[in-house]
Amino acid sequence: MTMTKYVYSFGGNRNEGSASMRNTLGGKGCNLAEMAGLNIPVPPGFTVITDVCTLYYQEGKKLSSEVVAQVKEALIWLEGVRGKKLGDAANPLLVSVRSGARVSMPGMMDTVLNLGLNDQTVEGLAKASNNPRFAWDSYRRFIMMYSDVVLDVHKDNFEHRIEALKAKTGKQSDTEITADEWKVLCGEFKAIVREKLGHDFPQDPMEQLFGGIAAVFNSWETERAIIYRRMNRIPDDWGTAVNVQSMVFGNMGDDCGTGVAFTRDPGTGEPYFYGEYLINAQGEDVVAGIRTPQPITNFQANGTGLQSLEDAMPETFKELLETATRLEQHFKDMQDIEFTIEQRKLYMLQTRNGKRTAMAGIRVALDMVKEGMIDEATALQRINADDLVQLLAPIFDPKEKKAFEKAGKLMTKGLNAGPGAATGRIALSAEEAQEMAQSGPVVLVRLETSPEDLAGMVAAEGILTARGGMTSHAAVVARGMGKPCVCGASTLEIDLAKATVTVGEVCLKAGEDFISIDGSTGEVFAGQLSAHPAEVNQVLVNKIMKAEESETYQRFATIMSWANKVRSMKVRTNADSPHDADVARAFGAEGIGLCRTEHMFFEGDRILAFREMILSKDAAGRKTALAKILPMQRSDFEGIFEAMNGLPVNIRLIDPPLHEFVPHDEKGQEEMAKVLGVSLEEVKHRVEKLHEFNPMMGHRGCRLGITYPEIIRMQMRAICEAAINVAKKGIVALPEVMVPLIGHVKELTYTKGEMLDELALINKENGTDFSCPIGTMIEIPRAALTADQIALEADYFSFGTNDLTQMGFGFSRDDSGSFLPEYVSKKILEDDPFQSLDQQGIGELVRIAAEKGRATKPELKLGVCGEHGGDPRSVKFFHKVGLSYVSCSPYRVPVAILAAAQATLEDK
Ligand code: ADP
Ligand code: MG
Ligand code: MG
Repeated sequence: MTMTKYVYSFGGNRNEGSASMRNTLGGKGCNLAEMAGLNIPVPPGFTVITDVCTLYYQEGKKLSSEVVAQVKEALIWLEGVRGKKLGDAANPLLVSVRSGARVSMPGMMDTVLNLGLNDQTVEGLAKASNNPRFAWDSYRRFIMMYSDVVLDVHKDNFEHRIEALKAKTGKQSDTEITADEWKVLCGEFKAIVREKLGHDFPQDPMEQLFGGIAAVFNSWETERAIIYRRMNRIPDDWGTAVNVQSMVFGNMGDDCGTGVAFTRDPGTGEPYFYGEYLINAQGEDVVAGIRTPQPITNFQANGTGLQSLEDAMPETFKELLETATRLEQHFKDMQDIEFTIEQRKLYMLQTRNGKRTAMAGIRVALDMVKEGMIDEATALQRINADDLVQLLAPIFDPKEKKAFEKAGKLMTKGLNAGPGAATGRIALSAEEAQEMAQSGPVVLVRLETSPEDLAGMVAAEGILTARGGMTSHAAVVARGMGKPCVCGASTLEIDLAKATVTVGEVCLKAGEDFISIDGSTGEVFAGQLSAHPAEVNQVLVNKIMKAEESETYQRFATIMSWANKVRSMKVRTNADSPHDADVARAFGAEGIGLCRTEHMFFEGDRILAFREMILSKDAAGRKTALAKILPMQRSDFEGIFEAMNGLPVNIRLIDPPLHEFVPHDEKGQEEMAKVLGVSLEEVKHRVEKLHEFNPMMGHRGCRLGITYPEIIRMQMRAICEAAINVAKKGIVALPEVMVPLIGHVKELTYTKGEMLDELALINKENGTDFSCPIGTMIEIPRAALTADQIALEADYFSFGTNDLTQMGFGFSRDDSGSFLPEYVSKKILEDDPFQSLDQQGIGELVRIAAEKGRATKPELKLGVCGEHGGDPRSVKFFHKVGLSYVSCSPYRVPVAILAAAQATLEDK
C-alpha cells in the first residue's frame, strides 16, 4: 500500500521539493525548496501540500489523522535539525505559518510569526538569547498576529494600546519600547483576547500550530481571496499549501533587520537592484507602513538622507546582491525576494517572479534578450498581451502640469508606484469608491490599503496612499491591475470624520473635489488635469515625437517586429472612419476587418436624408432619398480607401434594425414631417409601424436588403464607384463586401444577385471591369451548421462572434447585463461570453463552420470581426481553428498582434 505524501520538508538535511513542484507545494514552498537546493541559506521547515486544502474542505474543515501524523513527523525532524523543541520552556523552537498558493495571492491569510511562544517559552527565549526585549517583542507580535488572523480579534484592538503607550511615554518608534513595557502590553493583550473570546489565549504550542494551519486553509474561502481568484481566473480547486518554517529573527537588535527587494525596478524595469529594509524589525513591518523603510542601495539612497543597507552592513549587502543576482540567473526572470538578517547573517525567506508594470515587463523581457538570458520567443511569451494597451494609455499634459504647479496645485509628491495618469473625485473608502464610480471617475485615497480594499481599487481609476513604500499592498496590487498608483505621500492628511484630504493650505472634499495623480512621477495635484496621448501614440498617431526620442516607443516597435516575424494569423481592425483607419494602420493593422456602414449615416445632415429614406412610403421615395446619400457614402469610402491604400477593406452592408435611425422625439419628428412634406401625425404613424417587439431578431441584416434591395444597391454603388474613383489617383482600393446575418444560403444567393446586377451596371457606365470579393458573416447558428452550402456562394466568411454568441446562447446582448454577472459569480459561466469567447459552444460553431466551409471551398478565407478579436485568449483559439485573420478595435491591434504570435509559439 502506498501512502500519500502530504508533507514535504525543505532545507536542513532533508530537502524534498523543487521549483518544478509548484502545483503541489505552492509558489512559496516550491521556491523555498529550490533555494535550499541551491545552497542558499533558507531556514528549514516543511510544506503541507495544496491537495490537503481540498481534503480539508471535503472533510468538513478537518485535517485527517494521516495529515496530522505527517505534520508531527516533519516537526520532529525540524526540531532535530534546529536542536530545539516546540514548547520547550528552556530553549523553544519557534516557527512561522505561511500560506502559499500556486500563484501569489493577496487576500490569503497573513503570516503568523513566532508561533510556539507562551508564558513559559517567552522566558526561556529571553534567557537563551540573553535579550529579554527581543523575547517580549516577539511574544507581543505573536499574540497580535495569531489573534488577528487565527482568532479573529482584529489587530486594531492591540495597536491602539501600543499607540497609547507611546503617547504616554513620548516614544516615537516601536524600537524604543523596552522589554518591561512589552511585557506589560503582552498581559494587556491576553486580557483583551480573554474578554473578546471568553477563553484564554492558547498556550499549548501544538494547539497553536494546528490552529495556524487550519486558519491558512480557512483563508482560502474568505471573500477577499474569492474576489481575487475571480479577477485573476484562478480556479477554486487549486487550494493553498501551508508552510511551517523555523524562525530567524530580524528583531534581535541593530545588527538585525528585514527587507524586500526586486532584482530590477518593478516600476520601470531599469536593471537596478532595488528594495527596502528596516533595522531591528520583523516580517511585515516593511510593507505595513508602520515605520518608513530604508533604501537598500546607495544608488537609491542618494539624496534621501536615509542610510542604505549597502552602507549599514556592507558585507551582508554584498551577499544579498550576489544571492539576488544568482536567483535571477537561475529563474531567468526578475525576482521579488524577501529576506531577514539575524545578527548580520542573511536568510532568504521567499523568492518569486516579480510583479511588474506593463512598461517594466516589456523592458525586462527585452533587456534579458540583450543580456542573453532568454531568447526572443521567451520574451514574447512573457509579455502579457493585454498590457500593451497600457502603453497606449494617456498621460498628463506636461504643460498643464506645469501650470497646475505654478498655481500651487501640486499638493505633494509620493512614490511613483504604478505608472499612468488618473484623475477623479476623491473616495476615502472602498465602498465609497465603488458607489461613486457609477457616476464618474474616482481616485481612491487611503492611509494605506489592505486586501479588504480590493473591490474599491478595481472600481477606482487610480490609488493614492499616505503611507507605505514601493512594495506596500497598494503598490503591488495596483501594478498588478495596471492602475496608476502613488504611495507614501506622507504629507497627505486624511480626515475621515470631516471627509477631507489636506496638504498645507490645500483642502479637498471627498465625494466632490477632483484629485489627479501621476503614477509615473509620484505627483499629486488638486483638481482635474487633462490627459495627453502616450508616447507611442505621440510617435505613431499624433506624429509630434520622433521615434528615436522615445525609448518606450522603440521597445514597443521591437516587440511588434518580433511578433510579426512569428505569427501566421493576420490582424485587421474594425474602423468606420479614415481617422480610425489611420490610427489602426499606425498600430500595425493589415486591413479593415469590419467597416460598419451604418455609423456613416449618423454624421451631420445625412441622418435627415437617411430618415427620409426609411420613412418614405414607397420604393420611389426611397430611391430619391438614397440618391442624396450616395455621394456622401461614396466619399466616406474614398477616405477610407485612401487611408488603407493597398490593404483590404471589408465592408458590411447595412445591418441594424431601421427603427434605430428614426426620431422618437417630437422635435425630430416635426423636422421629418417638414422634410417629407407630410403631417406630424403621419410621421408618428410611420415611426410606430417600424416598432418591433424583438428588433435584434427582427427586420435587420440581410433582411433589409431582401425587402429593400435599393438600399444595398446604393451601398454597392458607393463602394465600387469610390474604388474606381480613387484608382484614378493611383490608390489601390481593395474592398470586400459582406452580407450580414445570413442564416440560409438562398438569402445570400438573392442578395448577391442584386449586388452583382448593380456592379454590372456600374462597370457598363464606367467602361470598367471592376470586381471585388463578396462574402458573408457567419453569425447565426444555422449558417454555421450549413456553412458547406453557404461557402459555395461566398468568397469569404467573417465570423461575427458577438451576434453568434447572442444567437447561440439566446442571450440578448443588450439585456444580458441584468443576469450575466450572476452567471459568472455563480460559476455557471466562467466569463462573460461577450468578452471572452465561449470556446466550447460558440467556438464549436466557429470550428464547424470553418471545417464545413473549407470542405466545399478549400481556398475560403476566414476571419473574425467582433470584440473577441482583441481578446488574447479568444485570439489563441481562433489561431487553433485555423482562421486567417482577426479584427479588433484600433487600440487593441497591438494586443492581437502579440497574442497571434504567442498563439503560434504555443502551437510549437
Ligand atoms: P506574504 O505571502 O504575505 O508575503 P510571507 O509568508 O512571505 O507572507 O511572510 C511575510 C514575511 O514574514 C516574510 O517576508 C518574512 O519577512 C517574515 N517571515 C516569514 N517566515 C519567517 C521566518 N521563518 N523567519 C523570519 N521571518 C519570517
Ligand atoms: Mg502579507
Ligand atoms: Mg512574502
